[in-house]
Parts: sequence; structure tokens; C-alpha cells
Amino acid sequence: MKPNRRQILAGVVAGLCLIAAAYYVGKFIDRPAQVDGGYRQVMGTFARIVAVANKPRQARTCIEAGFDEIRRIEAVCSAFKADSELSKINREAFNGPVKVSPELFGLLRKSVEYSKLSNGAFDITVGPVVDLWRKAGEANSMPGAEALAEAKSRVGYEKLLLDANTQTIRFAVAGMRLDLGGIAKGYSVDNAVEIMRQKGAIAGMVDAGGNIYCFGKPLDKAVWLVGVQDPNLENSEPLMVLKLQDYAVATSGDYRRFVTIAGRKVSHIIDTMTATGANKLAGDTIIAKTAMEADAISTAVNVLGPEKGLALIESFADVECILITAGPEYRVVKSSGANSYIMEN
Ligand code: AMP
Ligand code: MG
Repeated sequence: MKPNRRQILAGVVAGLCLIAAAYYVGKFIDRPAQVDGGYRQVMGTFARIVAVANKPRQARTCIEAGFDEIRRIEAVCSAFKADSELSKINREAFNGPVKVSPELFGLLRKSVEYSKLSNGAFDITVGPVVDLWRKAGEANSMPGAEALAEAKSRVGYEKLLLDANTQTIRFAVAGMRLDLGGIAKGYSVDNAVEIMRQKGAIAGMVDAGGNIYCFGKPLDKAVWLVGVQDPNLENSEPLMVLKLQDYAVATSGDYRRFVTIAGRKVSHIIDTMTATGANKLAGDTIIAKTAMEADAISTAVNVLGPEKGLALIESFADVECILITAGPEYRVVKSSGANSYIMEN
């Protein structure tokens, strides 16, 4: 039987009601949203946070909390801000023990552990040598052998005295200076992720100057993808793409941050043995369980170079690396388990 006009009209109205009902119910049901907070300037670099949460507003709250946490850690760890806890240590720790917060004490203790692990390649007491090269860059003149030897005599993690009982720090030698530039970004990324999770993020990605942690799954693809930049900057394509879930990656290299002194390129990463810029690797990317670990180890491996660096990585069960030797060779060296994180073309 053919429906009459009234029946057709009733059907259309019922259909429209259903659509409207679905729209309103949909508005109030939690639907995961992925929000990209974009890049912001912090810690002398750029940081980016992406968050997935049950509602867009919640994702945005997570992003702001993440950035706030990175800024909070910068205020504690910066060697450039006179009112940071680190600057207080740098000013006062030779005169007598300086009491520090449990947080900074823990970070300094971890830093010394990474120094021991890397045979001193990673060393936060590198400050006097970093300062010397910065000034040399500003003056565009190479530092003299005497100035280098003098700065080097004030470097060495064994001269940094930590007292766990009193939570105090002391310098054994005058003129020492701590520089957390090789570990604080990674540490801040781990903390930002923790805070985001507490605020309800179900997935996300935090990147502070190439120190990245990815957790959960993004909404727009199966897994978080992170490109490894080719240190040969003539190639604008990423050298490879990493897939990460609940894992960190950090890259150290001299291809973006360096000073040119009298025509010579000097890395911002210091080889503690020679007190000059590290020059054995154009770049190294470390994949590890925490962003702090990836950060510290990436700096250490950049100093150690391909052979010793690879040996260090292979001694860890859950750390992988992709090393790119110095140009013009730019040879790629991968650790034994690195391929499982690399996307096939
Ligand atoms: P990254 O980019 O993580 O490799 O860190 C490099 C930064 O760490 C430099 O800009 C310095 O502030 C600091 N640094 C330089 N050389 C060393 C070193 N051998 N060990 C620890 N930190 C270093
Ligand atoms: Mg580092």
C-alpha cells in the first residue's frame, strides 16, 4: 500500500526529530578531542604540546598545565636567571654548603649518575668552559690555551659535593658553575607529561627543544610519529621517521646550535676531555623510557662519538640510538634494536 501524504509528513518529522536528538545527545557525550597547543618559547628554545582528552576544553587545560610545569622547572634550573635555585648554588656553593629543594637535589644526583655512567662525557659542572666559549663567540676570537686550561681546572663532577643527609651542595673548587642545559629540558618534559595525565590527558606529545615524550595514541593516526632531521641541512626531508608510544626521544647535535669563531664552527656541546666543542658526531638521536634519560644520554653520546657512544647504548637494555657521524661523511649508525622504532618507507 502506498503511504498517503500525512504518513510521509509524519515520517519526515520523526526523522528530523531523531537527527536533532542525536545532535543534542552527541553534544553532551564525551568524545575524545586532540588539541595542538603549538610552539611557545621557553627554556631558551621552543616547546610544543599536543593533548588528547575527553573534551577539547580538558585537552586545552592539560596543555596549559604542561607549559606551566616547563616554565616552573626553568625558574628552578636556569643558569641565566639570577633568582633561580641553580644560580644561588653557582653564587654561594664554594663559600659553604647550600641547602636545596628535594627536587633540585634529586636532579643534581641524577646528573652525577649520568656522569659516572658516561665516564664524565656528560658533566653538569661544564659551566666555566661553556661560558668561555660563549664569550669567545661574542668576541669572535679563539680562547687561548691558558684560559682553556684555567676553565677546565674548574670542571669535574667529582668536585661537586652532594650531602644527602643535609640536602646540601658544595663546590670543592672556586669558580665552579653548574649548567643543566643538557638534562633540564628532558626532565621538564617528563614532569609535564605527569601533570597532563593527572589532569586527565589520555594521550599526548610534549616536545621541549627536541626532547620529546609521546604517550597513548593520537586520534589522527595509529601511533605518534617523530621525524629525525637530517644534519645535512641541504636535505629538507626527515632522515627517518620514528613511531613512539609511551617512549621518549632526544636529539643532540651541532647542526642548529653552534658558534662560529674566526670562521670555525664550534658546537655548544663541550667535550669535557679537551674543553672544546664536541665534533665526533653531527647528530645523535636517543630513544629511551624517560625524556630525562634520553636528554642526558644524547648529550653524552654526542661527546663520546660513534664507537664509544654506541658501546654505551648497547650496554643499556632499553635504550636505542641513531648516530650520524660528522660531515661531510654523515654516516648513519644504528643500535641493534633501533629498527623497531623506525617506520619503514
Ligand atoms: P643538549 O642539547 O641536550 O645536548 O645539551 C647541550 C647543552 O648542555 C649545552 O648548551 C650546555 O648548556 C650543556 N652542556 C654542554 N656540554 C655538556 C656536557 N659535556 N655535559 C653536560 N652538559 C653539557
Ligand atoms: Mg641533552
